[in-house]
Parts: sequence; structure tokens; C-alpha cells
Amino acid sequence: MATLPATGRADKARELRSTIDRQVEALAKAVDAVRASADFKAYLDVQARFHRYSWCNTMLIYSQRPDATQVAGYQTWKKLKRQVCKGEHGIRIFAPCPWKRENADTGETEQGIFFRCVSVFDVAQTDGEALPVVVVPNVEAAADDLLARLVRVAESRSIALTFKPIDGSAYGVSKKGAIDVDDSHATGQQAKTLAHELAHEALHWEDRGTFTRTLAELEAESVAYVVCRHFNLDTSIRSAAYIALWNGDAKSMRESLARIADTARGIIDDAEAPAVDRKAVA
Ligand SMILES: [Zn+2]
Repeated sequence: MATLPATGRADKARELRSTIDRQVEALAKAVDAVRASADFKAYLDVQARFHRYSWCNTMLIYSQRPDATQVAGYQTWKKLKRQVCKGEHGIRIFAPCPWKRENADTGETEQGIFFRCVSVFDVAQTDGEALPVVVVPNVEAAADDLLARLVRVAESRSIALTFKPIDGSAYGVSKKGAIDVDDSHATGQQAKTLAHELAHEALHWEDRGTFTRTLAELEAESVAYVVCRHFNLDTSIRSAAYIALWNGDAKSMRESLARIADTARGIIDDAEAPAVDRKAVA
């Protein structure tokens, strides 16, 4: 590949940046459209009924039922038109109970919290009406060339790659210096997954404590979308729903635009580098 003169390179970089900005904006609009859909509203209505448990209670839940996915009390399940199955034992957690009383001597109001042991149940212990879900469709297209390019990007960054079936709902895992990709999907889906995990590798291992999972997923999926779009693979059908499920919206995507654009450009540059080792042909 001929080396571009410096001004040509600057023009190309500027052009790529404005293309990326436009693509992120298009994805942000698609994310907001998912969030505005009736299915998504139904999903959020149900999600709002599930309590956000404290760290201590989360630990209690997982120590008693490691495979729990969605936990609620007996009455909440009833309101969601689901019944706890016969013979199921509750998961014991502590419910905070605030109290308030008037001090007879001082006339002041005193308040505090005590904890009561209560039972909750995982969705797998219940039966009844299905909970609303937001479908995150797979990318069904083939993209063998892009997948091969991204494999080279991982190699050039000394990231160990493993293609293998992955249990559970994840399609890939970033493990700091190593990435697993579930290879039981189309190569377009695998390429999208690999781009997503490459973004996690580049962005989310340094200063790990400063990112929420929500922000990390928004950024990684946006980078994957931009990289795939650059190589003519449209992943918006999956990316928009994925980001919406992680609480992303157009506003939060714009706030992360610079990080998304820089990371995507880095991956695109590396993916466009020639496949052949120059030293070998020199
Ligand atoms: Zn991720």
C-alpha cells in the first residue's frame, strides 16, 4: 500500500471522523427508536417492579441460588401474573424496614432502619404469564473477510483469541489480553462480537473501577457497530437493541462520541493494514 502524503492522511482522518460521527448519530437514533417502542416500554414497566438489591442481599441471593436471574417477592410475582411453584423454598434476604417515632420527652421525631428476614423467589421457581422481553436479534450475514481482518487486529495487539461455544447468553468475553468468541453463529455475528470485545480490551481494562458496566457496554457496542459499518456489515438491528437494554440513549452516546470514534478508528486502521507480513516479502 502506497504511503499517503501527510496532508492526504490528515484529510483521510478527518473524513473518517466525520463518517464515524454520522454513523454514531444514526445508531443513537435507532437506539432511541427501540426505547420508544411499545415492547420496550412493556419490558421497562416490568423491570421497574424488580427491586434493586443491595450488595449484601445480592451475595445472599447468589449463595443460595447461583443460577438466579430475576428475583422478586411472592406478591410481586402475583402482580406479574406468575405463581410460585408448589414446594419451592424461598431465598432468604434482609428487607430494610424504616421506622419513625415521636420522642415523648423531647417532642422530636426519631427515625431509623431495622432489617427483617424475608423470602424471595427466582423466576425459575415461578409459573404463569411470560414476562415481556426485548429481542436482541443475531447478525445473520456472513462476513468472513472482516472476521479474518479482526483476527489479525487481535494478533497485532497480542490478544490471545479462542473460538468456541460459550455457555449462557454471552457471545464473547474480554479477559484482558485474551478474548473468547462463540463460533456457533454466522461469521458476521462473530465479527461483530470480536469488534465489541476488542473495544473492551482497548477501553475498559485500564482504570477499571471508573466505568459502569452500562457505559462499557454502550461504548463497546457502538465501536463494534462503527467498525462493522466501515466494512459494509450493518449490525444496527442487534446493536440498537443491545444498547437500549443497557440503558443507553442518544444523549449518553453523544457524551461518549470521542472515545467511540478514537477506538473505532484505531481498530479500522489496524484492520486495513495489509495482511502479508512486509518483512516476509521484502
Ligand atoms: Zn460487552
